[in-house]
Amino acid sequence: MSRLHPVLVVHYHEISLKRGNRPLFLRHLARNLQAAIADLGPVTLRQRPGRIVLDLEGHPHPEYVRDRAARVCGVASVLLGYRTASTLDAMRAVVGQLVEGRQVGSFRISARRAFKTYPMTSVELNRALGAFVLERVATRVDLEHPEVEIVVEVLPDEAFVALDRRAGPGGLPVGASGTVVALLSGGIDSPVAAWRMMKRGCRVVFVHFHSVPYLPPTSQAKARALVERLTQWQYASHLHLVPFGEIQREVVLSVPPPARVVVYRRLMIRIAEVIGRRAGARALVTGESLGQVASQTLENIAAIDAAASLPVLRPLIGMDKLEITGEAQRLGTFEISIEPDADCCTLFTPKHPATRMGEGDTRAAEARLDLDRLVETGAGGAVVETFEFPASVPASR
Ligand code: ATP
Ligand code: MG
Repeated sequence: MSRLHPVLVVHYHEISLKRGNRPLFLRHLARNLQAAIADLGPVTLRQRPGRIVLDLEGHPHPEYVRDRAARVCGVASVLLGYRTASTLDAMRAVVGQLVEGRQVGSFRISARRAFKTYPMTSVELNRALGAFVLERVATRVDLEHPEVEIVVEVLPDEAFVALDRRAGPGGLPVGASGTVVALLSGGIDSPVAAWRMMKRGCRVVFVHFHSVPYLPPTSQAKARALVERLTQWQYASHLHLVPFGEIQREVVLSVPPPARVVVYRRLMIRIAEVIGRRAGARALVTGESLGQVASQTLENIAAIDAAASLPVLRPLIGMDKLEITGEAQRLGTFEISIEPDADCCTLFTPKHPATRMGEGDTRAAEARLDLDRLVETGAGGAVVETFEFPASVPASR
């Protein structure tokens, strides 16, 4: 038996890439892959046509590398397998080693040539390797629902044989689309909204508004835990903790109850924008979903947008709570979000917020406030915290 050379083959959706964007996309993808596995030991990355290959020869944790890489935005799928020469004999030898002595109820070969001048077609490769497997083990071919799928990829100077394909999140690598600022509450929606933007290639700066000392610091603890979780997709994050209690108190003194929610939200937008501009952000992100609560009507969304000079992105606008919750569970943010907490918006918040704040009403309410000073107080009082992934903890998945 010859020694097997483990590799991880990383695929991305090439079709969605415009020609000019490809080098940038690949630079970000390669850098993020490196960052995602930085603590797991040295790995060489090679750019090959249509894929990135991670050589795992001698690596102590190939499965950890696979799990980490399968989470990197921009990755369509990963294959953990073995590298060999691109001759039929060499591929047969590896396939043989993978199936020998194994119980294989059914299988299929899925061969793909990355260059079309290979002397055999994929169909011929499937047949030749399939026949080889049938000679060695008692099994049968099942193209529809195989128990084992043997993936074979042939490049001019090397081939990959793998039994294990994992789907990645797809999308674009973080960094490729620029920076955005996410308004992160301790709730279920905003972490999902932030992740959605990461998946579209955005680096996300987080801003959380809290009401310490008017409320206990639980919302900050939740925001930290959420950012820590989300940092697994962008490797380094900044969380700006903005003291909002004093600002809310001033609003309560002069703004009638129904108008307060929109006034709070517009202040949050303005403060987040000051922080965002300093960080080079080109848009804001919120977790609003149309009609989910009284404040999230088209009228109020328009009133909130009118206070912003950067675009306000709402990736969840058309999603149901059930869909958002499902995604939060997959991301592992749900458990953190449902921890009990007194959000700053529950403090000083009226029972019946206005659902249709017109421009006139909003301006009248704000006329009683020294907006510039309030925005300055918020942005100036923000405390920044940094999060990194992988943290300097022992290697894990
Ligand atoms: P979430 O589940 O994200 O808290 P929600 O359904 O509770 O959203 P709202 O309370 O209306 O809805 O908040 C709408 C959006 O405003 C949130 O998704 C978030 O982007 C932003 N937001 C609300 N409260 C805060 C806060 N304390 N800090 C930062 N952003 C906030
Ligand atoms: Mg909330």
